[in-house]
Amino acid sequence: MDFPDDNPEIPGFNLICPECGIANPDDAEYCLVCERDLTNILLFFEDDFFDLELTENCIIEYRKSFWGTRRTGKVLKYPLTEISNIEFGSPITRFKFDFEGKRRVLSLREENMKSIKTILPKLIDC
Ligand SMILES: [Zn+2]
Repeated sequence: MDFPDDNPEIPGFNLICPECGIANPDDAEYCLVCERDLTNILLFFEDDFFDLELTENCIIEYRKSFWGTRRTGKVLKYPLTEISNIEFGSPITRFKFDFEGKRRVLSLREENMKSIKTILPKLIDC
């Protein structure tokens, strides 16, 4: 992930496996290490308190420890069909939505917020 922003054409190992965190070739179908299927991942990023994965039909939150260094093992799945009322907070970057009758609020880094804001509306009505 050290490539300069103005040079996005370089093929590389930018596909991070949500399962084990290893960087895979951009066109990899399965993780080189844990063999997880990578074909349905639309977006994956690391944030301070969790890693977040977005597939065509689900948002998956991998909770991390207080210091953000390790995963707790807790994984929360939000099927896109079951979330509603999506809101992208600004200027404080919070991603909010309703799920199972509760308001979920995820605090995101600005660049992560931009990514999900770009992709999510293509999948569901935001
Ligand atoms: Zn993996």
